[in-house]
Amino acid sequence: MNNNILSNRILNLSESATLEMTRLSRELISNGIDVITLSIGEPDFDTPMNVKEAGKMAIDNNITHYPPVPGFMELREAIAKKLKRDNNLEFNANQIVVSTGAKHSLINVFMCILNDGDEVVIPAPYWVSYPEMVTLSGGKPVIVDTTIDCDFKVTPEQIESAITSKTKAFLFNSPSNPTGSVYSYDELEAIAKVLAKYPDVLIVADEIYEYINFGGEHFSLASFPEIKDQIVIVNGVSKGMAMTGWRIGYIAAPLFIAAACTKLQGQYTSGTGTISQMAALEAVSTDPKTSEEVQNMVRAFRERRDLLIELVKDIPGMKSNIPDGAFYLFPDVSYYYGKSNGDAVISNSTELCMYLLNNAHVALVPGEAFGSPECIRISYATSKEMITEAVNRIKAALTKLS
Ligand code: PMP
Ligand code: GLU
Repeated sequence: MNNNILSNRILNLSESATLEMTRLSRELISNGIDVITLSIGEPDFDTPMNVKEAGKMAIDNNITHYPPVPGFMELREAIAKKLKRDNNLEFNANQIVVSTGAKHSLINVFMCILNDGDEVVIPAPYWVSYPEMVTLSGGKPVIVDTTIDCDFKVTPEQIESAITSKTKAFLFNSPSNPTGSVYSYDELEAIAKVLAKYPDVLIVADEIYEYINFGGEHFSLASFPEIKDQIVIVNGVSKGMAMTGWRIGYIAAPLFIAAACTKLQGQYTSGTGTISQMAALEAVSTDPKTSEEVQNMVRAFRERRDLLIELVKDIPGMKSNIPDGAFYLFPDVSYYYGKSNGDAVISNSTELCMYLLNNAHVALVPGEAFGSPECIRISYATSKEMITEAVNRIKAALTKLS
């Protein structure tokens, strides 16, 4: 049998560039090459001890049977309390659906709302999986470009001019992957005001980097009463609680969206792993403001950001803004396009990333995958020593291009 059997759906789907670059770097590492992997967006910190203990307790207490499809009620109630504690938002536990990572939460929503040709407005740079998820669900991504000079932020006017009669949703992410941009309260309010004019447009607000914010308090887009009824918050424990491998994400949504996602995952997954859910219960019950682990992690990310920005200043032609959150820098590297090391001309960010992987042994992600071909993404979720070494290597390799 050959691969003719594969569906158009899967043939048209791109491999996740973040995971692809990480796979390539792991392949080189397994061949004995000393690669510094700055391609994957995950905290290099371990899951807090109390959370790990909760997972162990779940095993010891035989919490190992099928869970309720939308998640344990205790966990959904704890998430509702977390939304009140951190975001001053009122959600009922039955508006919350727990899934296998925020990635799963997002695709659940798109699968539930999109018919063929329905549009989803997505500001670029965007996280790699957004347009693929929309397309997979039959929808059409409508990309709104932003620039480094505007801190990669979309304006209310841009959003309004992208909305058509086919728009089903607007996808918003702050703090942002890949740019690290964080919208201020005033910027959020202006966006909310415009979206309130379109009550049939669902707002999907991905707040997964909520805790990794160097500028102060995180404001949820759902804070604005005029749009509260049209918003789905997507969040999870992967980033803020260093729990990427536990695979727990959730939505807080209008009741009919929560019911639809529950119906969908009832056929897809039967709910997410019980041990992870019990660990997540402990995680969401932990106040980040008083958690030493969370505070230390955020402090470390901030110091690394400052270090990376200083180091990158020394690389000719690399232009960067100052991200206020997440753990990514997204510099413009187009200065290097058209240059060559004598072998081949580098004409785009994918070729530049492959050049840096093979010559500098540093894995990064090309901006093309995020809808910004002039940039590359550097994840600084690694030690200061590694960041310094990686930038030295990148600089040395780029210096060879002319
Ligand atoms: N949204 C954004 C912006 C992300 O960077 C990630 C990380 N992969 C996710 C959602 C999904 O996170 P997870 O599935 O690990 O909860
Ligand atoms: N969110 C992370 C990243 O962007 C994890 C990898 C992924 O799921 O794409 O690198």
